[in-house]
Amino acid sequence: MSDPLAQTDRTKVRRIAERGSFDRDLVNSIIDEAYLAHVGFVIDGAPKVLPMTYGRDGDVIYLHGAVGNAMLRASTDAEVCVTITLLDGLVMARSAFHHSMNYRSVVLLGEAVKVDDEDEKRRAFDVIVDHVLPGRTETARATNPSELRSTLVLKLPIDEGSAKIRTGGAVDDEEDHGLPVWAGVIPLALVAGEPEQDALQLDVPELAGLTPPVPARPTSARR
Ligand SMILES: Cc1cc2nc3c(=O)[nH]c(=O)nc-3n(C[C@H](O)[C@H](O)[C@H](O)COP(=O)(O)OP(=O)(O)OC[C@H]3O[C@@H](n4cnc5c(N)ncnc54)[C@H](O)[C@@H]3O)c2cc1C
Repeated sequence: MSDPLAQTDRTKVRRIAERGSFDRDLVNSIIDEAYLAHVGFVIDGAPKVLPMTYGRDGDVIYLHGAVGNAMLRASTDAEVCVTITLLDGLVMARSAFHHSMNYRSVVLLGEAVKVDDEDEKRRAFDVIVDHVLPGRTETARATNPSELRSTLVLKLPIDEGSAKIRTGGAVDDEEDHGLPVWAGVIPLALVAGEPEQDALQLDVPELAGLTPPVPARPTSARR
């Protein structure tokens, strides 16, 4: 079993603490299944949160963007908060107050560090591309030196953070159980549609790695 994430004062899950977890395998499975990270950082003295893609390599998350990207520049050698969320369901309660959502989410805190080493930078590119579609780097043209130079790559250790998971139905007040209001869960899942081939494509190879329609990737996938 791998080491759990560091449980610090700022990652202590306070509200409904039993939904929290520091299990690294669980954290990794959420990171690997999701596509989208929300990166929180401070710029000009104010917080900002922007969405972006990412990739995981072992105990590190890589973020990338243009060298002029204000978010990445502000996040270089600075504290960031990366949040990754899988929305699993809408929870309908009998009362408006007790409506909720089923989810699996991860919050990571730490200092984002710029990757200067060219080999690691290339590796980070591959990890991010393969996160989007496993095995994609085996067929796509490799990143060239000019593309490498024009891209800023940051890494964040998966060290201080937490997962939080809600499952199950509505938690209504007992006196509301008899109300004639529909209660239950509307499951949600991210599902890939039929791939739409690019119109400019001359040759027509098979799309590797995706057999449509595809539900969310297996949580055990490790890249
Ligand atoms: C899809 C979705 C919808 C939500 N909607 C609401 C809402 O409308 N209102 C609401 O109050 N809460 C909502 N939550 C829960 C919310 O994310 C917080 O967990 C909650 O507000 C508890 O705050 P707190 O004061 O305990 O957290 P804090 O004391 O601020 O958090 C302490 C630490 O706990 C950990 N932590 C807290 N929340 C999470 C999380 N979700 N995932 C991983 N680690 C976490 C982090 O390490 C954080 O630094 C939602 C969560 C998700 C994923």
